Amino acid sequence: MTFNDFHFEKDLMEGLDSMGFSKPTPIQEQAIPVIMNNRDIIACAQTGTGKTAAYLLPIINKLSKKPSDFVNTLIIAPTRELAIQIDEALQGFAYFAPVSCIAIYGGNDGFSFEQEKKALTQGANIIVATPGRLISHLNMGYVKMQHLEHLILDEADRMLDMGFSLDINKIIGFLPKQRQTLLFSATMPPKIRTLAKHILVSPEQINISLSKPAEGVLQGAYVVYNSQKQELLKGLLKGKDLASIIVFSSTKDNVKQLERELLKLKFNVSAIHSDLEQEKRNEVLRDFKNRKIQTLVATDILSRGIDVDSIGLVVNYDVPGDAEDYIHRVGRTARAESTGIALTFINPEDQRKFKKIEELIGSEVKKLPLPEGMGPGPEYNPEKNEGKPRKRY
Ligand code: AMP
Repeated sequence: MTFNDFHFEKDLMEGLDSMGFSKPTPIQEQAIPVIMNNRDIIACAQTGTGKTAAYLLPIINKLSKKPSDFVNTLIIAPTRELAIQIDEALQGFAYFAPVSCIAIYGGNDGFSFEQEKKALTQGANIIVATPGRLISHLNMGYVKMQHLEHLILDEADRMLDMGFSLDINKIIGFLPKQRQTLLFSATMPPKIRTLAKHILVSPEQINISLSKPAEGVLQGAYVVYNSQKQELLKGLLKGKDLASIIVFSSTKDNVKQLERELLKLKFNVSAIHSDLEQEKRNEVLRDFKNRKIQTLVATDILSRGIDVDSIGLVVNYDVPGDAEDYIHRVGRTARAESTGIALTFINPEDQRKFKKIEELIGSEVKKLPLPEGMGPGPEYNPEKNEGKPRKRY
């Protein structure tokens, strides 16, 4: 199958050509015809599958066919980073099409709020927004949604995890009941099914990814004590001429400390975490994408939805608390069918958690020997290592 089979408008095909896309991914093959047919969708798909283009392309095509002066489509995403990324993809695909768009996300100054307000009152065709910031605008009353035809919820499971459930309902209260709604989620817990029941009408179900990392990822793990982690990481990073590396840690204190330690050793590294101003976060991400920064140390903010091409190595400095987050973190590498390596450090307290991850992905991750000179690591015995300190009597 090629993109020609969808019979897209000429200006959209030009956009696709300029982005270098030739063949649709499986989710695009399945979702695009359904969306072009005006049906609602509930799609289970991880990032890395091409889900963004799966919903953007048919929407842009409809707008190319029938240009609008009003807000036509609302895309809601959980984080600013994801909103920016969707907006960037949109600008690429729609470069030659008569489509205007704006990204609306919190954390900027009053000037951007005014700019957003202007775009919203003038009726940008596609709005990409994080929930909180959009509500601030909606509450002021100047956003006219009566011509809206499409609502898209991206990373819906993440939004509910982040506590946006009420916000989403509130936003939906501003929208016409007659609309096409597309719900994308990496996982399908019961709360997503409940949300879907409320907001979708006879949806087509699309299930692309079982909860498994993309096929091209080589996964491995080191069983270590906490005191061995820093040395192991330094050893792994040394001499690697990979273009891009991400190190994930669950806490921002760890992230900050690792950045300091690696900078001392003259690694080309930068950190990203929620204490950074939005401007700075954008700058770090930009430099990482442009390969000015080789290694990014990040909290989970980055593990979902952020699209950086060809990350050669992902290191989980600790085991993510949520097994689904493992798949998201590991999903940063081997995107769109390239290959990559994902290595996880497992300390004794995390062994149980890691076992759960192995159960979720349905295979055992190879435990690698520690490099010479590091001394022995702990035994890998998830049954014995409870994950919580034992009770003292
Ligand atoms: P997503 O899952 O939407 O985050 O997309 C993952 C990556 O795959 C992005 O870098 C996209 O630009 C890329 N991508 C999506 N669809 C295609 C396609 N049909 N051909 C080539 N690359 C694609």
